[in-house]
Amino acid sequence: MSHFKDPPKKSLGQHFLHERGVIEKIVLAVNPQAGERLVEIGPGQGAITFPLLRRHGSLTVVEFDRDLITPLMEASEGLGELTIVHKDVLKVDFGKLAGDGRIRLVGNLPYNISTPILFHVLEHADAIVDMHFMLQKEVVDRMASAPGSKVYGRLSVMLQALCRVQPLFDVPPGAFRPPPKVDSAVVRLVPKPADQVGIANFGLFEAVVRDAFGQRRKTLRNAVQQLCSGDDIVAAGLRPEARAEQLEVAQFIALANHLAQRPPAAG
Ligand code: SAM
Repeated sequence: MSHFKDPPKKSLGQHFLHERGVIEKIVLAVNPQAGERLVEIGPGQGAITFPLLRRHGSLTVVEFDRDLITPLMEASEGLGELTIVHKDVLKVDFGKLAGDGRIRLVGNLPYNISTPILFHVLEHADAIVDMHFMLQKEVVDRMASAPGSKVYGRLSVMLQALCRVQPLFDVPPGAFRPPPKVDSAVVRLVPKPADQVGIANFGLFEAVVRDAFGQRRKTLRNAVQQLCSGDDIVAAGLRPEARAEQLEVAQFIALANHLAQRPPAAG
């Protein structure tokens, strides 16, 4: 008899995985090792949770839907040690959750808030070993795309600046109940060590990337004119006539770092 009686909630992006083969592929991709600390975002009815728990023996999950908390607890009995954090994932301090260790994150994310979740967890990148996320395929394509691609944009640059992005496999709508309207894909993200990221001032980097892609059709000079001059762009080794979609991640970092070490304007 199932512990889960409530119908899926659209407002919480609930599309529950049921396809065995896909679940096995996710567990294999995560491949948890003894002593590691696993945290799942959005366990839902436990499609990934229970196989991971059976295999690893312990797991922390973050779930916002109060109707799922008791059923998850009951259904996990005898499988291992399940710790449930009943909270909005966007309010979870993953640095605190990791304590003095580091965590591995897993999740079939609620698609309606997947980008805010990505940016939120990356605030704590130094506390995270890696992430395995199910997302809309279109989002994974954007995350992994290279300069010159139509889908290369702010998400690509921000993610690739901080992580190694590795798309793993695609998942069709039929693997979920109810099926989403779009194709999905599983991606592995591995945060780079802080000394490899090389961003002097993260706020400035974010601002450069946001403005550069704010108006994709504009030249770089015009797009980032609130932040700097054409001379700054040249001094950072870039062409003011270039467009954001042609620039490598390292070039955005070079421009932001140049601005970070500029002397403050007189006045
Ligand atoms: N892991 C399950 C599976 O694969 O079948 C469920 C995945 S479902 C796509 C997304 C899950 O995230 C749901 O359980 C939903 O309740 C939960 N969720 C939605 N918004 C959330 C939030 N803000 N914080 C934490 N969990 C959330």
